[in-house]
Amino acid sequence: MKRGKQYFLPIIMFLIFEAAAVTLWLTKNNLFYLFNFSYIGFSVSLGIFLMMKKYRHARRIVQLLVGSYMLVYLGLIQKENMQIEGFWYYLFTGVFEAATIHYAVAKIFGPLLFGRGWCGYACWTAMVLDFLPYKTPSHPRRKIGWIRYITFAASLIFVSALFLFKVGNIERIMFRAFIIGNIAYYAVGIILAFAFKDNRAFCKYICPVTVFLKPMSRFALFRIKCDKEKCVSCGKCSRICPMDVDVTDNSLKRKNGTECILCMECVKNCPKNAL
Ligand code: SF4
Ligand code: SF4
Ligand code: SF4
Repeated sequence: MKRGKQYFLPIIMFLIFEAAAVTLWLTKNNLFYLFNFSYIGFSVSLGIFLMMKKYRHARRIVQLLVGSYMLVYLGLIQKENMQIEGFWYYLFTGVFEAATIHYAVAKIFGPLLFGRGWCGYACWTAMVLDFLPYKTPSHPRRKIGWIRYITFAASLIFVSALFLFKVGNIERIMFRAFIIGNIAYYAVGIILAFAFKDNRAFCKYICPVTVFLKPMSRFALFRIKCDKEKCVSCGKCSRICPMDVDVTDNSLKRKNGTECILCMECVKNCPKNAL
């Protein structure tokens, strides 16, 4: 690959984030947005560059840069609840700030473009779960994905109740909910990973955010496709996939198609460069 081409995609990606950074900085008159989106844009662009250089830990580096920034800086230091209950909270107060912007970009409209890239490259829950030993599932998927609708409804009912009963000091409750929610997510995620021998069990069965992510990512512009001319049906891509996606099927109905986190493990391991 020519040197110029190696830099083209990361630079374009950085400029897209910079455009969002400057637009939000000027329209919201808040310098934070300039810093926030510049940092995330830099992290994503660095990851793309490292991927193009075939550096094997590129995804993990982006995940750690973005995930820890959101968890530690935005969540714990700035006290912004970026979990799903934070989204409901800002939505009910009618404020297009913090969690509502984050959800709109990363989890509701963004997936129409980049699918579940959030889950592969930025989520701070998966950032920890991906350190666990079960990188590829050893058992078929269980039929308990319905649990996600219960956790989704529970988050909505929790925040609705705070407003309905006019509970005071909701900001403080939201911060506490962020801490308790994260501890619960990590605890359940780690227990499930060991119980099911699958690092991503939490993502597959429990995570409430997937109620947004799955339908929106079905029509993602960026999705991995299989060149049928090159594919020899060796099945290696299926065996290595952490999310049980049948990536050899190019149709919108591909098995677990809305679960792809764009980790690129199938692409890296295909012996025929068919993906
Ligand atoms: S499914 Fe949920 S926990 Fe898993 S990576 Fe996506 S947002 Fe994070
Ligand atoms: S790993 Fe490549 S060649 Fe093998 S089944 Fe998957 S796409 Fe086809
Ligand atoms: S291995 Fe391929 S199909 Fe599976 S989640 Fe990663 S990118 Fe998607």
